[in-house]
Amino acid sequence: MKITIIGTGYVGLVTGACLAELGNDVFCLDLDAKKIDLLNSGGIPIHEPGLEEVVARNRAAGRLTFSTDVEAAAHHGVLQFIAVGTPPDEDGSADLQYVLAAARGIGRHMKEYKVIVDKSTVPVGTAEKVRAAIQAELDLRATYATFSVASNPEFLKEGAAVEDFMRPDRIVIGVDATPEGERARDLLRSLYAPFNRNRERTYWMDVRSAEFTKYAANAMLATRISFMNELANLADKVGVDIEAVRRGVGSDPRIGYSFLYAGCGYGGSCFPKDVQALERTARHHDQELLILRAVEAVNDRQKHILGNKIVKRFGNDLAGRHFAIWGLAFKPNTDDMREASARVLLADLLSRGATVAVYDPVAMAEAQRVLQLDLTSAQLANIRYAENPSDALVDADALVIVTEWKAFRSPDFELIKKRLKQPVIFDGRNLYEPDTMFDAGIEYHGIGRSLQV
Ligand code: NAD
Repeated sequence: MKITIIGTGYVGLVTGACLAELGNDVFCLDLDAKKIDLLNSGGIPIHEPGLEEVVARNRAAGRLTFSTDVEAAAHHGVLQFIAVGTPPDEDGSADLQYVLAAARGIGRHMKEYKVIVDKSTVPVGTAEKVRAAIQAELDLRATYATFSVASNPEFLKEGAAVEDFMRPDRIVIGVDATPEGERARDLLRSLYAPFNRNRERTYWMDVRSAEFTKYAANAMLATRISFMNELANLADKVGVDIEAVRRGVGSDPRIGYSFLYAGCGYGGSCFPKDVQALERTARHHDQELLILRAVEAVNDRQKHILGNKIVKRFGNDLAGRHFAIWGLAFKPNTDDMREASARVLLADLLSRGATVAVYDPVAMAEAQRVLQLDLTSAQLANIRYAENPSDALVDADALVIVTEWKAFRSPDFELIKKRLKQPVIFDGRNLYEPDTMFDAGIEYHGIGRSLQV
C-alpha cells in the first residue's frame, strides 16, 4: 500500500519504518530539512533500539523515502498519517498548529480520495478541525475530492518503540459512519491485517472516542505513578518499605504490577502534556478533573524529591558539595530529555551552589543542548560531563541515580565506595535493596524505603 507519514519524529519515523518493513511503500515527510538530510545520508536523528537497522533495510529496498516535498507527499499515499508534534499551548491545551498545517498541506495538493489518519495525540474534536482545514484548501482551489479523517492514536513507548509498534497490545481506530469512513475502515483494516494474524487487536470505534482513548490511557498510567509516589513519601515517614507494598498490592489481578514503581517523578513528551491537555479539555467544558490536577501536582513535587533528600542530608547551602549523577534521559533506552526529572534535580543542586558530574549512556549531547535552556552560564560551568559511570563518581559527596538504565543495576559497589568521598547513594528509581546497601556499608536513600522512622 502507498502510505505518506507527515512528521518524522519518534512516532512518525518508527511508524514509517515499521510499515515499510511489512512491504508497504512509505513516503516520510518532514519540514526539518536537516533531519531529512541526515536520514537520507543513512543517519538516525533519535536513539531507539533496533530502528537504525529497520530504516537501513527498507531504504535499501526502496520502500522508505524521506523528503521535504509537501506536494509529492500529498500525492504519494492514499493513507496520509499525521504524526507531527502536539506540544502544550500557553494554557496547557494541545497546540494544534502543526497538525493543522499538515492538514492544509494535504488539502493544497490532493486530487483524489485520501484517508487522513491522525496519529498524533490530539484532543476530542480535532478530526473535525482537520476535515475543515482540508475542505477549506479544496474550496480555495475549487477542487472536488472526497476524503475521510480517521483517528489512530499511537501507544508505542520510547525506548521500545519498534518492538511496541510491531507487537502492539491493541490498535485503536476511529472512523466515521459515512461511505468515505467505511472506505477508510477497509483500507486501515488491510493495512493492519498483519498485526491481527494470531488474534484480533483492533478496537474499532467512532473518531471522538478514539481521540479520547489515548488521553484516558496516558492519564491512567500517570495516575498510577503519582499514586505510588504519594504513598512512597508517606512510607518514608512511617517506616514502611514501598517496594514490599508494591508487590503486595500488585499481586491483586484487579490492580496488576505495571506502573506502580515509586520514583523521582515521570517526564517525557507525553504524560505531562497529555494530562494537562485533558484537564484543559475538561475546563473548556466547565468540568474540573480533580484527580488529574492532583496527579500533576504530585508529579511536580516528586521531581524535587531527590533535591529535598539531599538538602535534608547535606543542608540547604550546597556550596563546596559535589554530586555524581547517573542518568539524565527521562527514562532508559532513549536520549529524550523532555520534562526529564534530571533537569529539575540539576536546577535544585546547582542553584544551591553544588557542582555535579553527570553521566548518561546516550543522552549526553541532548542534555547539553537542553540544559543551555534551563540554566545560567555560571550554573552550566559547574557541570562536568563524565566519560563513564565510574569517572562521574570521583570525589563526589554522593551518587544520585535518576534514570534506571540497565547498566546501573548491578554496579561494583566497592568501586563506588572507593571513588566517592563518602559512601552515600540517593536512588531515585529504587534500583538497589536497602539491606544489601547496609551490608555493603553504604548510606542509602531510596524513595519510600526508609524503614527507620
Ligand atoms: P517529535 O517532536 O519527535 O516529531 C514531530 C516531527 O514533526 C518533527 O520532526 C517536526 O519537524 C515534524 N513536523 C512538524 N510540523 C510538520 C509539518 N507541517 N509537516 C511535516 N513535518 C512536520 O514528536 P513525537 O514524539 O514523534 O510525537 C508526535 C505525536 O505523537 C505527538 O502528538 C505525541 O503526543 C504523540 N505520541 C508520541 C509518543 C512518544 O513516545 N514520543 C507516543 C505516542 C504518541
